[in-house]
Amino acid sequence: MRTNKIFIGGKWVNSSSGKTFESFNPANGRSLGKFPQGNKSDVDNAVRAAWKAYPGWSQTPAPERAEILFTVRDLLKQNKKELAKCITMEMGKVLAESEGDVQEAIDVFEYMAGEGRRLFGHTTPSELPDKFCMTLRVPVGVFGVITPWNFPFALPAWKIAPALICGNTVVFKPSSDTPLCGIRFVELLVKAGVPAGVVNLVTGSGKDVGTPIIRHENIRGISFTGSRNTGKFIAENAGLKKVGLELGGKNGIIVMDDADLDLAVDGAVWGGFGTTGQRCTAASRVIVHKKVQKDFEKKFIARIKKLRLGSGLDSKVDVGPLVNESAVEKVQKYVGIGKKEGAGLLCGGKKLKGLFFEPTVFSDAKKGMTVAQEEIFGPVVTIIPVKNFREAIDVINSVDYGLSSSIFTRSIDNAFKAIQKIEAGITYINSSTTGAEVHLPFGGVKQTGNGTREAGMEGIDEFSETKTVYVDYSGRLQKAQDIEWGEK
Ligand code: NAD
Repeated sequence: MRTNKIFIGGKWVNSSSGKTFESFNPANGRSLGKFPQGNKSDVDNAVRAAWKAYPGWSQTPAPERAEILFTVRDLLKQNKKELAKCITMEMGKVLAESEGDVQEAIDVFEYMAGEGRRLFGHTTPSELPDKFCMTLRVPVGVFGVITPWNFPFALPAWKIAPALICGNTVVFKPSSDTPLCGIRFVELLVKAGVPAGVVNLVTGSGKDVGTPIIRHENIRGISFTGSRNTGKFIAENAGLKKVGLELGGKNGIIVMDDADLDLAVDGAVWGGFGTTGQRCTAASRVIVHKKVQKDFEKKFIARIKKLRLGSGLDSKVDVGPLVNESAVEKVQKYVGIGKKEGAGLLCGGKKLKGLFFEPTVFSDAKKGMTVAQEEIFGPVVTIIPVKNFREAIDVINSVDYGLSSSIFTRSIDNAFKAIQKIEAGITYINSSTTGAEVHLPFGGVKQTGNGTREAGMEGIDEFSETKTVYVDYSGRLQKAQDIEWGEK
């Protein structure tokens, strides 16, 4: 069995605890190897190594840093198939989606490498003569990067590519469900020429590695993606760091009475059951106009019945396993709650052998029901019927989260009103709730985060500070706001 190491200051080393944990293939329960259980002392070493590397990396011209990011892109491309297989084996989603995960990492490295020749600040006139004003982007320092398991290549890339192009150094903790992917990702960065200490990797649990990172007094920025509860804990414990939080969702698709129903069904099936419903942008609610509810449900269930479950490595499979035992228990718990609260079970509802769960649909749910409010993160879709557009907006906005949203309609009025009225960071028109492109900002409102955005130009903001510069070439001590002082 492969015993892996952590990566600190350019060297693969054992963790100081000497303890290990295993990662398993969720499709068949086979072990993928032993991984070091890091702890606070490993985090301390990683932070020291990151600061040691910081002066050299932050002073390297950004276009030169970009060359390394372009090489990462190329290596990801060359190894796409094999890396996708690693993702599927470690967290279960089907190969086509795992290839999409690697492709997203390729795209984001390419985009952020391009930022090496932009990293724009701006200039603006001064209120005083012979004075020049501008802003510059400067790095933050050492970043703690903590990621979940559902996009084990794309999400580290969304954070580490902009962190590096801005000149930061990084301590990276991948999810303890996907340590192997985390190691493969870092191996690739090293091969591309990322200098020693610029990216350090500590594997292990949230408690033993994540918490020391977020509380560390010498870490200046935290970039976290994961659940709302962990996000809240970070907000309360990170102190005065620059913190980016990308949290959960309870995303809704609105299907109006004038929608192309077949298209809406396509969107709901993909949004609800892609990645076995384990996406932050999963369409876990369908808010359907009563006039088309029955037609929609008939077509929706017919499509779901055709979905094939199994190992994501099998190209005929559509839906893989859940990631681990506790995910299965969570889905089971919510299915029980849905039944108890009186939502109608249209299909599914049962745990199958291993970590597989039947694609499940509740119908005739009310907006306040638990299955219509809480993130289940599994193959469960709740249908909520509504009588008009106004009620649809009221229902879609009735949750604490605000990540993604969608409306299927042929009415341009409904489409634009939805864009205006839905409280979410992302709104799709006539498409599903998932499908982010890396040159646009990604993130949510309300309890989905703390207002930061990843990817796109906005993705640079999280990983840089803005420095304001005034250059006075008047030869006098000019004072802003017309202040006259000490001149009488
Ligand atoms: P999680 O919060 O359990 O874990 C995420 C990461 O945080 C892991 O690396 C984990 O080890 C670490 N962690 C856990 N407890 C910690 C602690 N006390 N201190 C520091 N670190 C800690 O989430 P998960 O189950 O891995 O991922 C699923 C969640 O992620 C869902 O809620 C999903 O919606 C969300 N997600 C959000 C986005 C987004 O961009 N908004 C994208 C993907 C997933």
